[in-house]
Amino acid sequence: GRILALLNAGGGAGGGSDGGEGRVVGGAVRNSLMGLPVSDIDIATTLTPEIVIERAAAAGIKAVPTGLQHGTVTLVIDGKPFEVTTLRTDVETDGRHAKVAFSTDWKADAERRDLTINALYADARGEVVDLVGGLADIEARNIRFIGDAATRIAEDHLRILRFFRFFAYYGSGRPDAEGLKACAAARSKLKTLSAERVWSELRKLLGAADPGRALLWMRQVAVLTEILPETERWGIDAIPALVATEKALGWAPDPLLRLAAIVPPDAARLEALAARLKLSNAEAATLKAWAMAAPIDDEISSAAFERLLYRNGADGITTRLKLALGVARGKAEGDLSEMARSARLGKLLDRAMTWKKPQFPVNGADVIAAGIPSGPRVGELLGSLENQWVEENFASDRAELLARLQERVQ
Ligand code: ATP
Ligand code: MG
Repeated sequence: GRILALLNAGGGAGGGSDGGEGRVVGGAVRNSLMGLPVSDIDIATTLTPEIVIERAAAAGIKAVPTGLQHGTVTLVIDGKPFEVTTLRTDVETDGRHAKVAFSTDWKADAERRDLTINALYADARGEVVDLVGGLADIEARNIRFIGDAATRIAEDHLRILRFFRFFAYYGSGRPDAEGLKACAAARSKLKTLSAERVWSELRKLLGAADPGRALLWMRQVAVLTEILPETERWGIDAIPALVATEKALGWAPDPLLRLAAIVPPDAARLEALAARLKLSNAEAATLKAWAMAAPIDDEISSAAFERLLYRNGADGITTRLKLALGVARGKAEGDLSEMARSARLGKLLDRAMTWKKPQFPVNGADVIAAGIPSGPRVGELLGSLENQWVEENFASDRAELLARLQERVQ
């Protein structure tokens, strides 16, 4: 409100000296119309970035020129960032780089956005301005490109993934037929996008409350195999049961767990996938841990399970168990043995999620102090001592282990 008032101070929102105006746009308008939480607030304005900065300075508001070349200034109010972007029109484009010019034309600004539901504005009076038919699409939960779908995709191929992402979050029924067809036709162009843009969009898609329907349609039109060929032989059938399990057990949607559910647990292929999509180191480690852990026997004894955790770490085992639990719960209805299996997997999972690695209480210095000269023998002895300690379920304490070390050295 304060920002819109500031931008309209020149007499905007319907006349006045400079006609400058600001409107909230995009996700904030879309989500409030759908009654969903709003994450960040983007504002579009007819004022140039220079004037936005001037007005903010005069009002004592912090302004950060976060993307001047795109016309974006970030205003910070009560520690919250608001991106204020000057209206633009595309002058020319080659599918990857758009040349843009500032403008005061709201319709042109709306028309260069991707989807009708993302091109609604709210003015300072709180009134919604709809220049592309977005209101009707919000009502119908219809995810639709603005203008000709094929043309809009040719301008920016990431829009293929955005179409399915927004369908996953907000769509209902079947995806818009024209959009789906255009996505299918342009799918080979996904290869030309940077890994960062693809993974950032895919991560969001996989983080939807239920990405299952969107993934099905992506597979149907071969968009999925274009970005994730790993899914080809493996399939996406695990998703519905996993999503149901997450809901039942109150787990937050986890994009990496969903990814693990649709790609084979093959270390080399996961390594290649992580490199291809430029996953962060932490993301790659989580994904690879899933491949390294062996399938878990749900009737494993608790002692054997503790040893398994010690030797594999909890990460990969947790992922394994979550996926196995998803599958078991999916089959459990009316099936007593699957129900029992789910219960056992659930107990193992609880343990894995609270597990902390016990500290082996002896180290290399202890071995050397016991009379072994430093060298490979130290590590060998330490390893065999540790192995015995694990096999005996971590029962021996430091004093016992040191005594045993003495025996071995003599
Ligand atoms: P959310 O922030 O909830 O993911 P959003 O709609 O705000 O959703 P952003 O990616 O933050 O999405 O983009 C803000 C707005 O910018 C969009 O609503 C859309 O109007 C426009 N936009 C973003 N990316 C593109 C694109 N690749 N092509 C065309 N318009 C885009
Ligand atoms: Mg946004």
